[in-house]
This record gives sequence, C-alpha cells and structure tokens, in this order.
Amino acid sequence: MAIRELSPNEATTPVPDVKRRAVLMVFDLVLLTQGDEAQRIVDQIRGRRRALPFTFGELRNMADAGKIANQAAAAGVEDLGEAPTDLARVLRYITPDLAICEVCHKYPIVEMGGVVSLLTEGRCPHCGEGLITAPKQAEPYVAWTTLETVSPSQTHDRLAGNGFFSIAPSVQSALEEEGLMTEDGVINVAHFLAFLAHGPVADRFRGMDEVLVALGNPAAFGARDSVSVRAAVRQAKAWTPRTATTVASVATSHGSDEFVPSGTPFKQLAELLEVCFSIDELQRLIGSLSSGMNLLRSLSDGRSGPHVFSGEVTSMLERRGRIDTELFTAILRDRPRQSAAIRKVASACGVSI
Ligand SMILES: [Zn+2]
Repeated sequence: MAIRELSPNEATTPVPDVKRRAVLMVFDLVLLTQGDEAQRIVDQIRGRRRALPFTFGELRNMADAGKIANQAAAAGVEDLGEAPTDLARVLRYITPDLAICEVCHKYPIVEMGGVVSLLTEGRCPHCGEGLITAPKQAEPYVAWTTLETVSPSQTHDRLAGNGFFSIAPSVQSALEEEGLMTEDGVINVAHFLAFLAHGPVADRFRGMDEVLVALGNPAAFGARDSVSVRAAVRQAKAWTPRTATTVASVATSHGSDEFVPSGTPFKQLAELLEVCFSIDELQRLIGSLSSGMNLLRSLSDGRSGPHVFSGEVTSMLERRGRIDTELFTAILRDRPRQSAAIRKVASACGVSI
C-alpha cells in the first residue's frame, strides 16, 4: 500500500466521530497510551485549532515523529521510545476512504517483524470478525491549478509546504451551506480554489500559493465578512471552468413539491435522498434495510448536514453494492408521493422496482 497525498477536498474533510475514536485507538495501540492520554496528546498537538473541526489534512499533519514525541511529553506522556516514529508512519496512510472495521470500529493495524502497518482489506486483525473493504480506486481528477485532467498519482496540484493549509471557518460553512459539493458529498474546495485561481478574481493573486493562503483568509479575495464570503461562494458555484469536467453539484429543488432528478445516477440518488428525507428519517430508512445496523455504523452522525450526509449514504451504498431493489422499494414505501421521481432514479441506476 502506497502513501498518497491528500487532495484539497480530502484535506478539508472533517474526520467523522467514529473515525476520530478509531484514530485515538491507533495512538493507544502504537504508543501504548491508556485512558485519556491519547486525547491529551492530540489536544496538545492541535493547540488552538481545537476549536475548529478536525480534518483529515490536520490528521496528516500530525504524522511527524518529532512533533508527536514533543507534544506527548508536553501532555505528560513520556518515555515513548521509537513508538512515535511508528505512529507517524501509520498516520500517513489514513485517508478519508480508508475503512475501519465494521464490527470493532478500529483501523486495521498489524505488526509484522516489528513493522507497524495498516491493512487495506481483508479480515479485521483485532476482532477477527469484521471485513475491511478496500478503498475505491481513485479516479482522474481536474487539477485546480491547471484545470487539466490528471492522474490521481500526480501531486503537482496538491498542497504546498507541509501538506496542510487552513480553511477559514466562514469559507467552510459557506461552501457547506451553499451546497458547493462534489458528487461524493464532500465540500468541493478544489472547485472553489479553481474559481479563485482562474475566475473573475484571479488577478488578485500572484501565484497558486497565494490562492491557497486566501482560503484561510477570505479578505485576500475581497470578502471581509460572512455575507461577502457567501456571495463569493455563490459566484463560484455558478462559475464553470473553461475545460471543466467536474463542476459543483447544482442546487436541488427544495421548496417545490416535485423533484426532477438530473445528473449522473449517483448524483440523482444523493439528491433524491436529500430532498425526500431528513437526516433522522434517512438513518431510519438505512436501518430498516437488511444488515441495516451494520450499514448505519459505517456512517457519520450526520452533523455535517443533510447535503453531505445524503452524499455519504449514497457513496456507502454504492461501495457495498446496495443500490438495489430493496433500497428503492423502501424509499417508495416511505415516500409514495414521489413515486415518479423514485422510479426515474431507480431506472437511471439500472434497478427495477
Ligand atoms: Zn474488528
């Protein structure tokens, strides 16, 4: 398994609660910490960032043996020997698509010949029960720097410096609230960066590093309050890069009775779920499917909002091959009045009901 860089979208994705607990267990397993020691070390490393959402980019930035050893000592956890080096190596493998065990909710760490590493698929090494599912093959993507479609192994478009940049909370919440999302339901930071780098405000910047910095400092693109940040995000959402093959998801038709699905089958399903169900209702729907409790356990608590959650549900169902007759029958049972839209989306997904 190779270490890969995080894309801007991945780096700004918050770590779901269940995976945050799994990360603490990684600390416990490798550093042999106990009780709240792991949490104290993490808090110590995060410092003032503790007030902000904990992202996969920040987690990746923790993968530094010196930093772990120093901050552990500052948190009163000493004599860790070589363990911080092992921990840093393991943390570098954690990407948003890396699965945890469905049964014991741990990352599948193994130690062989004194080398600690992570399994990407197979039987869980901790409980021996859960199956670890392999991450999906990353697909070619549009680099925000050049707007060219590039292979996922290319890193020129990725983050400068130490692989971590900050996103202002006002930008993060504007992207979320305006629904500037990818088809997988994560905040589309890459599209917003592309907009800053190539759109109408591009001449404010003297290079891609300045664009990255602006993400954490919206005044750099002329947005001095949250209203102007939202205006910029709305503008970005309407903006299409010249050579674009990925654009932001279009707003769903909230407010109208009839939902008209459009876009890829995947996107249609995510939008259907978002339009038809609240987060609670969607959780109940998933729980009602066969092995529903297992499916539910692999989802976040939905705190990131209905748009993100419906994308997350869709992506989980797709990964497990559960976009099927059972799913659509359950949707139809709960939302008979949306029958036309449901049948259209089912048909787009190649499912008969
Ligand atoms: Zn397990």
